[in-house]
Amino acid sequence: MTRGYLDYQSASPVDPRVVEAMLPYMTEQFGNPSVLFRDDGDTAREALEEARARVAAFVGADASEIVFTSGATESNNMALKGVALKLQGKGKHIISSVVEHRSVITPLKYLERLGFEVTSLPVDPEGFVDPAAVKDAIRDDTVLVSVMTAIGEVGTIQPVGEIADVAKAAGVLFHTDATAAEAWIPIDMSTLPFDLVTLSSNDIYGPKGVGALYIRKGTRLEALIHGGGQERGLRSGTENVPGIVGFGLAAELAGAEMEADVARVRPMRDRLMNTILETIEDTALNGPRERRLPNNANVRLAYIEGESLLLSLDMEGISVSSGSACSAKTLEPSYVQLAMGVKHEEAHGSLQFTFGRWSTDEDVDMVLEVLPGIVERLRKMSAFKPGMEYDKEEFGHHGHDD
Ligand code: PMP
Repeated sequence: MTRGYLDYQSASPVDPRVVEAMLPYMTEQFGNPSVLFRDDGDTAREALEEARARVAAFVGADASEIVFTSGATESNNMALKGVALKLQGKGKHIISSVVEHRSVITPLKYLERLGFEVTSLPVDPEGFVDPAAVKDAIRDDTVLVSVMTAIGEVGTIQPVGEIADVAKAAGVLFHTDATAAEAWIPIDMSTLPFDLVTLSSNDIYGPKGVGALYIRKGTRLEALIHGGGQERGLRSGTENVPGIVGFGLAAELAGAEMEADVARVRPMRDRLMNTILETIEDTALNGPRERRLPNNANVRLAYIEGESLLLSLDMEGISVSSGSACSAKTLEPSYVQLAMGVKHEEAHGSLQFTFGRWSTDEDVDMVLEVLPGIVERLRKMSAFKPGMEYDKEEFGHHGHDD
């Protein structure tokens, strides 16, 4: 049975060309880049630096501005805590938004416990942060603004250029988590005024567990991981050479193939999104129509729980998400959708489809063939009915019992 895979936001396959490039660095070329005056060390170091140049080129940066990490979570931690600790003598106020990924929200909560103050800006019903609100929130003691490039869950592309301009005009550093956007929107640091950018490997079909932080020349950070002084002292520990080599090639391919990927994926996404909205009753789009990631469709289906939809689709061999994958362990409705004003019970009934390099029209056909029937069946069984107010006390956090 071929499965329909529409959950690239949760995990992507590694491009076979990337796997091929990584393999030698796990076997014959296993050297440690820190070993000097020896061929094996030189080979590993050259591979590391070639990958750094490739990731830098992908975002229009200089190689010296790229620090490799274990992924987007670490890059976000490095940016937020690194700046906060370094600049705490100057000020202890940070501005961010309520729709950031947990790997931004949680480090900020930690910084609050250390005595920093965080302003978490609200979003409008489509998920947008207002640059004017950023401007109003900036104070004399503000040291950093952090707003993600795009919300992976609902596809909203934030006005990060404008927000960064506002920060820059006030002399405040700007960080953006580009994880969800990097495969779909060109990010060019030679023209964009960002100081720190979080990049991830798996989101561009490189291996998991690798990422990078772009740090504009002259931006100073406190290191979080101390040891042998690798990565300019910012991130000690023997480098994950095979992973980094894979990330480097993945970045080069993503740059070269972005236009083609977007051109292939957008019409598939549009067909799925529009057909669901037009042919299934009581559905609505989460996130904006314009300024939306081309690979994301997120729809609310009233009177149903996303988890039962997800299970039913899984039994038909289709992988989708019912919200942010990272919060799927808890059955809380998505905090992103709640922040956009989506009602508690409606957020439960949302389905997130994300496309990627190997998505096909058949994936879309598979969903469209089975979804209307599943929706009809689940709505018949549903405890949520039109006109009914959802009672959190009665249903508890899990909604109703199926
Ligand atoms: N930021 C965003 C926007 C994400 O979607 C994710 C998860 N893919 C992360 C950060 C964390 O990535 P990782 O788990 O690879 O560290």
